[in-house]
Amino acid sequence: MYNAKVLFFTMYLIILFSKTGINETRYSFLVEWYDDLASITRKFCLRYFISNNTVELVELKNGKTFLKRIKCDGVTLKSIYLGSTLNIFSRQMKITDYGDDFTRESFSQVTQRTYGMLKPESVPHLGKILDEIYARGFKVTNAKMCQMSEDNAKEFYKEHEERTFFPTLVRHMSSAPVVALELMGKDAIKSWRREIGPTDVEQAKDEAPNSLRALYGLNKTQNGFHGSDSPESAERELEIFFPSKVPSRRSIPRSTATFENSTCCVILPHVVEEGHLGRIISEFQNSSFEISAMRMFYLNKTDVQEFYEVYEGVIPEHNGMVGQLMSGPSVALEIKHPSCKSQEEIVSKFRLLVGPSDPEIARELRPQSIRAKYGATKVKNAVHCTDLPEDGSLEVEYFFKILE
Ligand code: ATP
Ligand code: MG
Repeated sequence: MYNAKVLFFTMYLIILFSKTGINETRYSFLVEWYDDLASITRKFCLRYFISNNTVELVELKNGKTFLKRIKCDGVTLKSIYLGSTLNIFSRQMKITDYGDDFTRESFSQVTQRTYGMLKPESVPHLGKILDEIYARGFKVTNAKMCQMSEDNAKEFYKEHEERTFFPTLVRHMSSAPVVALELMGKDAIKSWRREIGPTDVEQAKDEAPNSLRALYGLNKTQNGFHGSDSPESAERELEIFFPSKVPSRRSIPRSTATFENSTCCVILPHVVEEGHLGRIISEFQNSSFEISAMRMFYLNKTDVQEFYEVYEGVIPEHNGMVGQLMSGPSVALEIKHPSCKSQEEIVSKFRLLVGPSDPEIARELRPQSIRAKYGATKVKNAVHCTDLPEDGSLEVEYFFKILE
């Protein structure tokens, strides 16, 4: 009888706690949102409850609840990390800090950042390599194809200034475009070094045949990849390629966009989030299209509205498209093809590969097209590509001149 009473009371407590959420895992972050109407940055405490993927926002200034606990499309454990931008009911909120020690301890190791780089010899295999990077457990949180000047390369590798191989290394690094990456993952700094393998490619082939340097490296200097060797180097190197402050003009490795006989492609946030970035770029490269520029963007509402202005009032999905493009990171590409000698040719050739804008129709008519394979709906249709020949270089300019 006594045991039954204890059992009953324990069950009562479990039910009570699960209803009131006392034993519920809850993460807490500080977030900022630029309020256009009031022209001020407002700061909040965001709480995220993992049991049912709900969020709650409390304004820091007055302690008032700004958003009652609710499920919010696109806010998941995968999208929440320091530095990420969340789309909470059309408001772009940037996570600026942890809200408590529990959250800091839970997240800081699993969401460590490192600087990874594809050296010139790896860039032709960009799609395949990005796919490998995701498969090996990393998330790409920033990316940019760029051309390093000799000065950029000297600055980047200044610790090796006295070494005999330094001039060869500097010449090589500034000889052709590289791809700069911010990678996030559990113990990212160490694990990225492990995945790229030993510096010497021959040694990599012997000791770590599955490492990226063994697979893609050519020799001691052209070993395919770079990886930061400590948290301090990661911070310094990320700042060179993805500056948080406005740097002096000379110090940023420049974009590789050519604005000539090219078309524009934007890989939409839903496919980036699903981890298909590498696969889609591989499809382009396998069809002999060249990626002559690439950059990841976290676009805000104003940028997206400006970019999609021509579709406003013309396409019923316009609002949905704006919402999708600002919902997370997207990747803009400048695309070329060796056989296309004019903008007309490249715009129409690339549109064929991308397929009809409605993925359902694409699956019927062009099952091998990108939208047939990776699109879900008219709004989540995998990629945007330039429609009209005269817009090809304008759209490329929008991303690689205006937004840069
Ligand atoms: P990285 O810094 O590029 O990630 P790492 O840390 O494995 O590579 P480091 O010793 O820092 O190797 O050397 C920097 C780069 O200089 C190497 O990646 C390689 O391109 C080049 N390098 C290093 N040692 C030699 C060498 N003995 N001969 C030619 N090139 C070299
Ligand atoms: Mg090094």
